Amino acid sequence: MKKAILINVGNEILKGISLNTNLYEISKFLFSRGIIISKNVVIKDDVEELKEEITKNLGQFEIMIVTGGLGPTYDDITRKAISLALDLKLKFSSKLYSQLKPKFSKYNIIENEILKRYAYIIENAKIIDNPKGIAPGYYIQHNYTHIILLPGPPTEAIAVLENSLSKVPPEPAFCRYLRTHGIMENKIQELCGSELVKVESGLYPSIRGVDIYLQSDDRETLEHISDIIKKKIGTFIYTEELKDIEDIIGEKLREDNLTLSVAESCTGGLLGDLITGVPGSSDYFAGGLITYSNEVKINMLHVPRGIIIEKGAVSPECAYQMVKNLVNLFSTSVGISVTGIAGPTGGTKGKPIGLVYIGIALNENIRVFRYYFSGSRSEIKMKAALEALYLLNLILNGLALPENILKI
Ligand code: ATP
Ligand code: MG
Repeated sequence: MKKAILINVGNEILKGISLNTNLYEISKFLFSRGIIISKNVVIKDDVEELKEEITKNLGQFEIMIVTGGLGPTYDDITRKAISLALDLKLKFSSKLYSQLKPKFSKYNIIENEILKRYAYIIENAKIIDNPKGIAPGYYIQHNYTHIILLPGPPTEAIAVLENSLSKVPPEPAFCRYLRTHGIMENKIQELCGSELVKVESGLYPSIRGVDIYLQSDDRETLEHISDIIKKKIGTFIYTEELKDIEDIIGEKLREDNLTLSVAESCTGGLLGDLITGVPGSSDYFAGGLITYSNEVKINMLHVPRGIIIEKGAVSPECAYQMVKNLVNLFSTSVGISVTGIAGPTGGTKGKPIGLVYIGIALNENIRVFRYYFSGSRSEIKMKAALEALYLLNLILNGLALPENILKI
């Protein structure tokens, strides 16, 4: 893999005014082409500091990318810093200026002297067109390092990066992602630690589970290690691609010609939001109901009043009735119901905060599961919604189900 340094320029990033999404987007873009950012620095809008940073890192990386500061205002200092660091002249290009003129009218900008600063180009640099804005990017070859200057606004940065790398063939990236759910980070370490140290690896936990990342210069080693890990904890791996569970169940539902509906209580629409976040979800998702109050559960979902009175809205019986009646109402082959206590109030000894029942119906078959989730109100809601999707994935694929399945 080629190694790159990314320098982001801008006071707004250091002051928390802008989130550094360029780091995220550019590293993702480069990684898919076999280029890894091995160093990232954020520099304020200061010519001397930027010049120093550039000088310090020249020759240390195959690729140096600098984002921001290519505009015409007083705080746009990147061209100046590069010209000082590489001892290259900045000169006005009437050719570039006339090329930029149609862009000024496109963006309704009235010409003035300040705009001329856009056209001060760096000697020996190749100008890279910016299809999403005005400030062009630059490419400079300096000894061993390819230097690429990108405008700050994220859509422009990626568009110019794409243009500057269009001729660079992607290098195969020998890496693997094993996305797990239902197994803790320390358990993965305990079971697979001896393999993980044999390659460059990382364990990345999030509310969705733990992602295992593996990388090696040698494809065979990588395959071998990932096979061993899969043998050890394969039942917890739900995908080896950079896909989320909602994408995966979407593909499966479409493939199997199944339709889905949801009846949500404590998740308040979050489940429907996750499902409809996937483009094309209308192929399989019919819709849902947010049945938050008891009366709505009774009136809309026909949950028997007796169940609500005797067992409560947060009960396996209620989750069962919700999903049973839901699939009839919506005429779908698959249904999910969620009812629980998200907190921070409302918990009791018998029904603590975090108690959630998830019902899943597939054709005539209804299953209910009990969970005790921890965390804040929003974490409990998210964990419940995600868990419902992971469960559905197991059921759709006929995989072993967790032990917290209940008999109704
Ligand atoms: P312009 O001609 O638009 O000024 P520029 O290259 O000079 O282009 P900057 O002035 O550095 O760009 O940044 C413009 C805006 O782009 C910032 O105000 C900020 O909203 C956004 N931006 C800059 N850098 C980043 C970054 N690293 N991540 C996300 N947004 C950024
Ligand atoms: Mg600017």
